[in-house]
Amino acid sequence: MVDLATLLLHGDDEHNRVTDVAPPINVASTFRYDNDNLVPWRDITNLDCLDEYPVYSREGHPNGVRLEALFSRFLGGHAVCYSCGLGGFLSAMVHFNPKRVFMDQCYHGVQGIVGIMKRNYGVERYGLADIEKHAQKGDIVHVETPINPFGTSLDISELARRAHAKGALLMVDSTFAPPPLQNAWDFGADMIMHSATKYFGGHSDLLSGVLVVKDKETASKLKEDRICLGSNISNLDSYLLLRSLRTYDLRIKRQSESATKIVQYLNDHKNDFPALDKLYHSSLQSDDFVKKQLSGGYGPVFSLTLKTEEQCKKFCSSLKLFQHATSLGGVESLVEWRAMCDSDIDQCLVRVSIGCESAEDLTNDLTTVLSQL
Ligand SMILES: *Cc1c(COP(=O)(O)O)cnc(C)c1O
Repeated sequence: MVDLATLLLHGDDEHNRVTDVAPPINVASTFRYDNDNLVPWRDITNLDCLDEYPVYSREGHPNGVRLEALFSRFLGGHAVCYSCGLGGFLSAMVHFNPKRVFMDQCYHGVQGIVGIMKRNYGVERYGLADIEKHAQKGDIVHVETPINPFGTSLDISELARRAHAKGALLMVDSTFAPPPLQNAWDFGADMIMHSATKYFGGHSDLLSGVLVVKDKETASKLKEDRICLGSNISNLDSYLLLRSLRTYDLRIKRQSESATKIVQYLNDHKNDFPALDKLYHSSLQSDDFVKKQLSGGYGPVFSLTLKTEEQCKKFCSSLKLFQHATSLGGVESLVEWRAMCDSDIDQCLVRVSIGCESAEDLTNDLTTVLSQL
């Protein structure tokens, strides 16, 4: 097994179709049949043949195939790509069809999907505290860690043990700390999802999601479902994502190191900034599991609270290097006054996503504005 940096550049070499060093962008929605080898659909027993001979791009296309080969090696399982992170979560729910889902705070769209399942099919939603009381075989326990928007961590091993004791499956949303920062398989996850829109895409210019499962049969079934659900990743986005993954190892390490340094600095100098109330990040948690779980480094997102909403507005609009926008994971550092998109969250909370600028410049930008509030 080669190092991650090498794998990300060569893990899909087997799918080279032409001599181009960069994979070509395919825009075709439909592909000519091989007139010398016409196999009718009724005789197709294995959809893997679509990887080599694409038919229609909703079913599969060349760069999507490359991505899944690369992600499967990189993420240590069988990867299935989707149009976005939520497309992946919805597809997992459709496939596993749980009667009960257990989750606390997590991405609002994920909660929205469970809400729709409740409305349409009577799926019950419980909190993580209710696993022992209500979970049964086939149910799903869903945990997002590190958690949005705080960047703090929950104990995956403990949740895996509690879910498995009841015969339930543990799904981990690892978007905030993808490998090599956190490898959820090591702690008992049954499946892992990522919004690839964030760190894997990394340039704020594509939408995609990936689900990783342990066995090939489940991945094949998910791909079969995906044909009907219409949730495949698009041609162009898969090209962009493939291009992004080539440099992912460089980006994530820098983002993680910078975020940890910046949080450390702010925490050490908290008293210099009267407007700064609280700081949230996994690096500030003292629980034993946190370091073990984030063995490759802390996630590049953290949050802070200021004393007033006015300070939040001023802070987010006065920074020079941080742009005020939602989302995270890109090379561009972002801040977001979370009140802009969430009415249930602390209305004085600002989420910070560290990009690839120098940690020193970013620290200067943050501290300059913090000292003016
Ligand atoms: C963004 C995000 C999602 C949803 O992903 P999309 O690609 O926007 O559909 C799910 N979970 C987490 C933790 C996210 O940050």
